[in-house]
Amino acid sequence: MSGGIGVSTGVAAGPVARLAAPPELPEDSGQEPDPAGAAERASAALEAVAAELESRAERAGDTASAVLFAQAMMPRDPALQSKIADELAAGRSLPHAVAAAFGGFRAALEAAGGYLAERAADLDDVANRVVANLLGLPMPGIPAPGHPFVLVAEDLAPADTAMLDRERVLAIVTERGGPTSHTAILAKSLGIPAVVGCPAARDLTDGTTVLVDGGTGAVVISPSVDEVARAQERAAALARALAGSVGPGRTADGVAVALLVNLGAEGELAAAASADSEGVGLLRTEFLYLNRTTVPTVDEQVHAYSAVFAAFGDRKVVVRTLDAGADKPLAFVDHGDEPNPALGVRGYRLANRHPAMLTDQLTAIATAASNHDADVWVMAPMVSTPAEAAAFAELAHTHGLAVAGTMVEVPAAALRARQVLEECDFASLGTNDLGQYTLAADRMASELAGLLDPWQPALLDLVAMTARAGREVGKPVGVCGEAASDPLLALVFAGLGVTSLSMAPTALPAVRLSLAAHTLADCEHLAELALTARDATEARQRVAEAVH
Ligand code: PEP
Ligand code: MG
Repeated sequence: MSGGIGVSTGVAAGPVARLAAPPELPEDSGQEPDPAGAAERASAALEAVAAELESRAERAGDTASAVLFAQAMMPRDPALQSKIADELAAGRSLPHAVAAAFGGFRAALEAAGGYLAERAADLDDVANRVVANLLGLPMPGIPAPGHPFVLVAEDLAPADTAMLDRERVLAIVTERGGPTSHTAILAKSLGIPAVVGCPAARDLTDGTTVLVDGGTGAVVISPSVDEVARAQERAAALARALAGSVGPGRTADGVAVALLVNLGAEGELAAAASADSEGVGLLRTEFLYLNRTTVPTVDEQVHAYSAVFAAFGDRKVVVRTLDAGADKPLAFVDHGDEPNPALGVRGYRLANRHPAMLTDQLTAIATAASNHDADVWVMAPMVSTPAEAAAFAELAHTHGLAVAGTMVEVPAAALRARQVLEECDFASLGTNDLGQYTLAADRMASELAGLLDPWQPALLDLVAMTARAGREVGKPVGVCGEAASDPLLALVFAGLGVTSLSMAPTALPAVRLSLAAHTLADCEHLAELALTARDATEARQRVAEAVH
C-alpha cells in the first residue's frame, strides 16, 4: 500500500489511465521531400485539433467552455499556417516546422506580458496536440480509454481539470500537488475522490487496478477483492452517516460553528443554493469580471448579485469585492509591469488606482441587497492594515451596507487582528493566500505544496491570533480558504475559536459530521496538539490519531 494526502473523500477502485505526457519531438530530419504535401498535413492536423477542442468546449460548462472556445481559435489562425509553410520552406521537418511556428507566437505572447502571457500555456497545449496528431501519439490531456478509470498524473493543469467528467473519472491520484492545489479544489467541487502528493503515482501504469481512498489518502495497488469490498463497505457506511448529517453546524455540545458555501461561478449557483448551508461565506465576484474586455456596468452587476441573493432567500451572503491581480488578472485593468504581482497592486489595493470600480461595485451590491431578503455582508480582499480596514468599512457603510469586514490574507493583518477588527465588523481568514504569504511560497507552485500545507503550525498560529482577537472584541472570525473543508482541520479551527467555516458545497456534510462528533473541549485539545507540533505533517498526524 502507498499513499499521499487525501483531499476529496470517497472510495473508488478501477483501472489506471495516465494523463498522456506532451509528445517529445524526434530529431529534425531536415527538408521534407514534399513541402506542399507536408503543409497540407499540417493544416489537417491543425483543423483536427481545433475541432476536438471545440467539441470539448461544447461539452464543458460555463467558464471552461469559454476558455476552450478561445483555445480552439488558435490553430485556425491563418498566420500560423503560413508560418508553418515558411518553416518548411526553410528546410525543417514537419514536426519541427510546427513547433518552431508555435514557438514564434509563444515568444510574442510572452513579450506582451500580463493577460496575454498567461495564454502562453494554452498555446503550448495546442502545439503539443498538433505535434501528437502528426506523430500518431496519444493526445496530451485527459485520456479517453472508453471505460471509467482512475486518472493518474504527475499533476493536473487547470485546463485539464476543467474538463473532468465525474461519470468517467472514478478517482484522481497525482504525484505532486497539495491540499490547496487546483486538483484538490476541483476534485472536491466535483465530488471525485482524490489523493495528491502521492510519490507512488509515478510508477502506476495504464490498466493496473488501484483502490483509492480520498479520505485517508491510501492508494492500494492491485487490491484483493476483499480489500475492495471492505473499503467500499467503509465508504458506504460513511456515505450513510453523511446523508444523515443535516442542519446548522454544531459541536457535540451544541456550540455553533456556521457552515457556509464558497461560490465563484454562475454555473455553481443552483447546486450551492440547494446545499444544506447557512449561506454564502465567500462570493468570489471575479466571476463577473473574468473573460470580459470591459468593466461590467452597475446594472449588469445588480442583475448578477440579485440572482445570488434571490437564490439564498433570507440566508447570509458574504460578498467579497473584486480581487483582481496576481493569480486573477483582468483584461481591462492595467496591472502595469509588475515584477512580483502577488506583492503588487492587487485586491483592495486596486481601489486607490481605480476608485470607481470599488464604489460602483458597492453601489450595485447595496442596490441588489435592498431588493432582497438575504443578509448581505461585504468584505475586502488583501487588506494589510487597520487603516485599510477602516477605510473600506466606512465606504461600505456609507453605501448603505451595514456589515463590512476584511479578509485576513496578509500576515500583517493577522498580527494586528485586534486593531483590524476594531475598525470593521468581522474578519474572514483566507488561508490560501495567508499560507502563501506566511511561508513565502507561491500558491500556484505545486513544487512548494509542502510549504503551502494548511497544517503548517506558523499558519495555525496566525489563525489562532485572529480568532483570539475576534473573541476579545466580540466580532465574528470565519475561515473561507480551502483549509475550512478539511474535516480534521475544521475541528482545530473550532477549537481556536473560529465562528464559521466556508467551503465547497460538497465538503459540507463531512465537516458537519466531524464537528457533531466532538465537543468544544475536544476541539480545544486538538487545536493545542496541532499548535505544538513541530511541522505540518506532525500536526495532521497528531490530530488524526487523537480522533480515530
Ligand atoms: C484565500 O486566499 O484563502 C481565499 C479564500 O481567496 P482566493 O482563494 O479567492 O484568493
Ligand atoms: Mg485570497
